Amino acid sequence: MAKKQVYSFGGGKADGNAKMKNLLGGKGANLAEMASLGVPVPPGFTITTEVCTYFYQNRKKYPPGIKQQVEQALRKVEKIMGKKLGDPKNPLLVSVRSGARQSMPGMMETVLNVGLTSKTIPGLVKQSGDERFVYDAYRRLITMYSDVVMEKAAGIEPKEGRGIRLQLEELMNELKKKKGYKGDTDMTTEDLKQLCSRYKAKVKQVLGKAFPDEHTKQLWGGIDAVFSSWNGRRAVSYRRIEGIPDEWGTAVNVQTMVFGNIGENSATGVAFTRNPGNGENKFYGEYLMNAQGEDVVAGTRTPAPVNEDSKSEHNKTEVSLEKAMPKIYKQLFQIQKKLEKHYRDMQDLEFTVENSRLFMLQTRTGKRNGPAALKMAMDMVREKLITKKDAVMRVSPAQLDELLHPVIDPAEEKKKTPIAKGLPAGPGGAGGQIVFTAQDAVDWNNEGKKVVLVREETNPEDVEGMRAAQAILTARGGMTSHAALVARGWGKCCIVGCGALDVDYSKKQFSVDGMTLKEGDFITLNGTKGLVYEGQLPMMDAAQENKLLNSFLKICDGIRKLGVRTNADTPEDAKKAKQLGAEGIGLFRTEHMFYGKGSDEALFVLRKMIVSKDSNERQKAINELFKYVKKDIKGTLAAMDNMPVVIRLLDPPLHEFVPREKARLEQLAKELNITLDELAKRADALHESNPMMGHRGVRLGVTYPEISRMQIKAVFEAAAELIKKGKKPYPEIMIPVVCDMKELALQLDIAKEIYKQVLGKYKLKKIRHKLGTMIEIPRAALVANRIAEQAEFFSYGTNDLTQMGFGFSRDDIGGFLPDYLNKGILPQDPFQSIDQDGIGELIQIGIERGRKTRKNLEIGICGEHGGDPASVEFCHRVGMDYVSCSPFRVPIARLAAAQAALK
Ligand code: ADP
Ligand code: MG
Ligand code: MG
Repeated sequence: MAKKQVYSFGGGKADGNAKMKNLLGGKGANLAEMASLGVPVPPGFTITTEVCTYFYQNRKKYPPGIKQQVEQALRKVEKIMGKKLGDPKNPLLVSVRSGARQSMPGMMETVLNVGLTSKTIPGLVKQSGDERFVYDAYRRLITMYSDVVMEKAAGIEPKEGRGIRLQLEELMNELKKKKGYKGDTDMTTEDLKQLCSRYKAKVKQVLGKAFPDEHTKQLWGGIDAVFSSWNGRRAVSYRRIEGIPDEWGTAVNVQTMVFGNIGENSATGVAFTRNPGNGENKFYGEYLMNAQGEDVVAGTRTPAPVNEDSKSEHNKTEVSLEKAMPKIYKQLFQIQKKLEKHYRDMQDLEFTVENSRLFMLQTRTGKRNGPAALKMAMDMVREKLITKKDAVMRVSPAQLDELLHPVIDPAEEKKKTPIAKGLPAGPGGAGGQIVFTAQDAVDWNNEGKKVVLVREETNPEDVEGMRAAQAILTARGGMTSHAALVARGWGKCCIVGCGALDVDYSKKQFSVDGMTLKEGDFITLNGTKGLVYEGQLPMMDAAQENKLLNSFLKICDGIRKLGVRTNADTPEDAKKAKQLGAEGIGLFRTEHMFYGKGSDEALFVLRKMIVSKDSNERQKAINELFKYVKKDIKGTLAAMDNMPVVIRLLDPPLHEFVPREKARLEQLAKELNITLDELAKRADALHESNPMMGHRGVRLGVTYPEISRMQIKAVFEAAAELIKKGKKPYPEIMIPVVCDMKELALQLDIAKEIYKQVLGKYKLKKIRHKLGTMIEIPRAALVANRIAEQAEFFSYGTNDLTQMGFGFSRDDIGGFLPDYLNKGILPQDPFQSIDQDGIGELIQIGIERGRKTRKNLEIGICGEHGGDPASVEFCHRVGMDYVSCSPFRVPIARLAAAQAALK
């Protein structure tokens, strides 16, 4: 027997189930699951994704046996329905729907009302007793079919604005204008009949082919078109952004049509089992009376709320479904409860009411923004719907990142009056210059400008521009419109349905309340409240004092095995990181005290040391420098009391500190009592042609042991003084740029000698500490077994390890990285996410060899990668003890580490 390629569902039974997403696509798998659960689902069948793969591997041909399998499945549907596709008396109509493994909202195609032909129309009129409805369905079929099957799937690329769909819509608008109609529902049966013949003539004229008047042709045309839409331009660009593999393919669902546009007892809608905007445990949704599914998502009519909880500024005057159809609402409410309980997650639902009968057309795990994801996860733990472990997996690092995103400074916001209000579709605050097309958003963004994309409404063709924008603002559409859906998935600041905006694309401007704003003007959005402001408002962090976030992160802490430290150079950063959950410092860079605000004095002394001509002069400067270094280290050790602080000795090449401005040079020369010429000579002597691989890090300590000595003494004395004050400092002294055991040994001998001296001086028995090294040169990873004879800890400096491992200068990679990404040579920037194949291998070798020599060797990472979720997972897998990242990334590392432990 041929392989099973078609799976039936309906009549309380199904061949497939929710676990078969890879084969049946998300939509098909869930339709099957719902059917088995006894939820009312119009019967139908799913053609598998394997058929899609075959289709593309065989020049758009189908595998043998498919026609018979489709025939058989169709017979089953016809039997359940007591109707037949193409039957003149009692015709069955179907939809042909796309559905990939992972939902790609609006990116692929669906054709509704397939099976309407001149043969079946009279039958349907008789059956439904509603001629107007039949011709409304017919005009929709012609529009969708000509657009999706005859134009897009045929590979025809019309000129901008000349697509068949738009041309047909123009015909309809002409008619409505001539007759003075406001909405689609004003059109009479005669109007629609006329329109359908005009549509058909137009299709023939524009596309050179007649609209097929035969049901089997229509069905297979639809199936072809859905498979073809997998490689449509929009779908491909969406896949690229979301990282969905091209090989997955889509399934095709053929399903009995149910009609929400058959009068006032019919409706269609979209709902969520909880509010996807803020996570509240309240059933939330929108619907349209007397409409077909596509109308809700298209944003052409303002949908009404399903209940009180779904009311907003925008739709509060509309009648809710609860009021309009109380029985149906009750049934819908029960079904949504049942589905949420069954799937143990928030569901996004599509439903249609046909003549007072409810049907479910889709369920899937709903997209949500960061704040909603967190709230739902924590609520569901409390409701015992999910475990704590489930909760940890329910919030992605990117969603957590949203919670750490900026909001408009509330104090400043209070002072301003919004110019408009819309629906809050994506949280947080963001601002930028106004642009009106997706292409402009991309272009301006490439020029380094921050933009807000303003559209009447968005469609799937706009996704790249939406991505490039800081925020999105639309004049039309509801919380389930395209813009809202996409922004929610990305966690981007977004306001939709801002009806007061009058957008004029041709002039590239919009007016609101008598005020006009043009392209390039600044606006700021509060996406949490739906408020639009003119100009640029200041932003601030949102994470402070978020109780829910803290208890969630506590759960993460209970699960993760990796420690999380921070990279901090000042007591202020250390304190902030501690509040965000850091358990120590993984990298304190001593040189930091010579940069930036308040560093003048210390820097001047350092410069004296650098240009001193002999060890005498140098020792004098070093003695002077000592007090600055000690004070700096002491402050941070105190802030991180009782937690490990990895202090790295001076790392950059000395030449970097030589002043360049004339006034500074003169001051230095005067202090040293030498001429400017002499000073210039000394500075020149320090010049190197490749300083990053020059006289730096441990190499300075080898040449000038007195510099290391001073720093180590500062560390131990700072710690000793803190102990005397009852504190519990825990320094770990780290030697950078090591490539060989012997150079490290020289430095650590100094450390051991000074340690003894300081103990004596302060009359202490012990100062808790560790001595170790940074592994950042490939050779160091390879000879890690020898290095571990000396080092009590390793900290992977993955920035330099990546730089030297690849031979890519991290300061110059910008020039060629885009080519490497576009041509698929590299999957991502190796300075952002660890290259696990190559650099990762070096790391693993270093860990293995190091631990062979010293079993309890402490191992961490202090490169930028420490805050990248994929890299954190890698660090967990290879058995590191901790990761260290910038303070702001600490919560993300805590979550990523917990997820790594659960994977
Ligand atoms: P998408 O994946 O883009 O949401 P769908 O396949 O879900 O596409 O279909 C688009 C719209 O058509 C939805 O609103 C859906 O509910 C509606 N629809 C699809 N199939 C049917 C059907 N058999 N009967 C009634 N409405 C349908
Ligand atoms: Mg859908
Ligand atoms: Mg380095």
